[in-house]
Amino acid sequence: MRIRRRVIPLSRIIDAHIHLSERRDDALIRFAEMNNLQYTLEGLLESMKENGVGRGLLLSPPLKSGIALQNEKVIELCRKSGGVLSPVVTAEPSEREVKAAIKVAESNRKEVRAFKVRLGYVRASAVSPLFERLYDYAESEGLPVMFHTGDTVTSTGDLASSHPLSLDALANRREELTIILCHFGNPWFEDVAELIYKHPKVYADISGLTTGGGTYPDKFANWLARKISEAIYFAGGPEKVIFGTDYPITSYSDALDLVKRLDVDEGDREMILWRNAETVFGL
Ligand SMILES: [Zn+2]
Repeated sequence: MRIRRRVIPLSRIIDAHIHLSERRDDALIRFAEMNNLQYTLEGLLESMKENGVGRGLLLSPPLKSGIALQNEKVIELCRKSGGVLSPVVTAEPSEREVKAAIKVAESNRKEVRAFKVRLGYVRASAVSPLFERLYDYAESEGLPVMFHTGDTVTSTGDLASSHPLSLDALANRREELTIILCHFGNPWFEDVAELIYKHPKVYADISGLTTGGGTYPDKFANWLARKISEAIYFAGGPEKVIFGTDYPITSYSDALDLVKRLDVDEGDREMILWRNAETVFGL
């Protein structure tokens, strides 16, 4: 009789926030090095597999010049991933760029799962009239818009426009738009707790909250887990909380460790790890 090998993990976890490029001037390479990650498509897919992550959303990384990688490149990488990665189209605040982003989404309708707006890095707030066309399109197609919120990796980021509360006005005005606050508004976790509680279509991802070690890695991870757990209690459940890494900013082991530390039921952990993302992004 042959001995059965150990059960293969289900790979149901969804990483709703991944960055990758094949460019040398990618501004996130230093995070990959810090986290000992191989910043290639192969390395990413391997890392996902090892950690039971079956699917992911790919977002444009920033280049050293400050601009975002072209959306077409993100789509190309997704195609090469064999169905594992789905693209998120980044829209920058200009009439031309918004038009181009909508065009990319239209011509890749089956693949594109969301838009991304880089608040804090671009000179525009979420309520800038420049984004109106994007929101109209996103609403009509049922595509969520992900917003960078909270801390910026560069010291020149504009926190006034990346503060999570800046999304309240948009959510009030556009009740049909699905809004995702990336990084849980770090460090404004309580503001995000209120936003996901108040607005039926506002969600938050928990990506990119830890990077490197810091002086108190264990205490910091516990602090983060407490903040997010409390936000879940305040919001009345985990339905609005979505797992993500912000790869290569946070490694899979650190991101999954954070979910493990949350003081919630196992069923709720499953919602955070994949069920909520399946619903919100139609995966
Ligand atoms: Zn990111």
